[in-house]
Amino acid sequence: MAQRVRELRAAGKAVLSLLLGEPDFPVPLPLQEAAIEAIREGHAPYPPVAGLLSLREAIAEYYHRTYGLPYTPSQVVVSNGSKQAIFNALLTLIEPYDEVILPAPYWVSYLPLVQLAEGRPIIVPTTVASHYKLTPEALSEALSPRTRALILCTPSNPTGSAYSLAELQALAEVLQRYPQVWIISDEIYELIRYEDRHVSPAQLPELYDRTLITNGFSKAFAMPGWRLGYLIAPRPLAEAATKVQGQTTAGANIIAQKAALAGLKSNLSLLLSPMIQAFKERRDYIFAYLSEYLPETKPYLPQGAFYFFLEVADFLGKKTPTGQTVLDADALGDYLLEQGVAVVPGTGFGSNKHVRISYAVALAEIQAGLPRLVEALRALA
Ligand code: PMP
Repeated sequence: MAQRVRELRAAGKAVLSLLLGEPDFPVPLPLQEAAIEAIREGHAPYPPVAGLLSLREAIAEYYHRTYGLPYTPSQVVVSNGSKQAIFNALLTLIEPYDEVILPAPYWVSYLPLVQLAEGRPIIVPTTVASHYKLTPEALSEALSPRTRALILCTPSNPTGSAYSLAELQALAEVLQRYPQVWIISDEIYELIRYEDRHVSPAQLPELYDRTLITNGFSKAFAMPGWRLGYLIAPRPLAEAATKVQGQTTAGANIIAQKAALAGLKSNLSLLLSPMIQAFKERRDYIFAYLSEYLPETKPYLPQGAFYFFLEVADFLGKKTPTGQTVLDADALGDYLLEQGVAVVPGTGFGSNKHVRISYAVALAEIQAGLPRLVEALRALA
């Protein structure tokens, strides 16, 4: 979609894009400065495979300070983006045909990553009624003796929903019956919360030893292009993940690691609050707008991240003004793009009846894009 938007814009067409999966903010200054300094030092040795010790210490310290979780640096494996951290975790855990539970909608890469690791994805649909969260009942039904892992994403891309302590406790109760199951907790949006604080499954004493956390610097620290993420895991798994990484990409870019270190050492709330405030303002605007003008999309107020996942079932099966029937979210995405507003069809997230819109775009673009979205949807008959 992003490529098509670029092409249309290059051809002179005005397209409003609500696609972006990365903050529309620059890398914070202290991180920029640390990166420049790292370059000026003039040395570019191979970094340690699992990451600079100083950064691994800072990550362990961050999780301790923020969530009270006691990790040692030897449990942290720094990677070229958190996507690699997730893949390392899966390669470490999964034998062929092992089942991995994916609550849907899921982030697009989980499914192919599980398949690349030769696991069997077990997709568990959720609905807006449960705020797109996995319920204990649905989890219980999906678990089997062959289940090896459950991937949770909190706050979630694409829905913005986030698990509360009570909700995680209810899941933990079910998981107690299946001690062979690991929890991979994707916490990349953990710092982008609007009301409550993030809760990690690892904060539950009964899940602490069974949880692998993945996180990174692409969202809150706005440096997706510098490719840096990490895995925190029980030590034998962290060691295995390090071996996997040692034979594939080796250690992550040392300039990005030094920038990330400066980020973790700075005053995070001061550093991040302008961005979070801007996201919150946009979120509130979109929620109010959609609730008034597109209630049939069942807008759900996101608690974190920067997306809305909108149900578009009511518009499917209808005809465009040129007489084409819009059968699914992909076709709807194509039609909306023709009408000058770009959204992401839900198909890649496990639903062909939803589209995702992002508010990591300027409020002005949102204010122009939403009326166009409404107009285009209302033109379907
Ligand atoms: N998990 C989720 C839920 C994401 O949205 C993304 C980025 N879109 C990633 C992981 C991967 O991020 P990165 O590899 O840039 O750290």
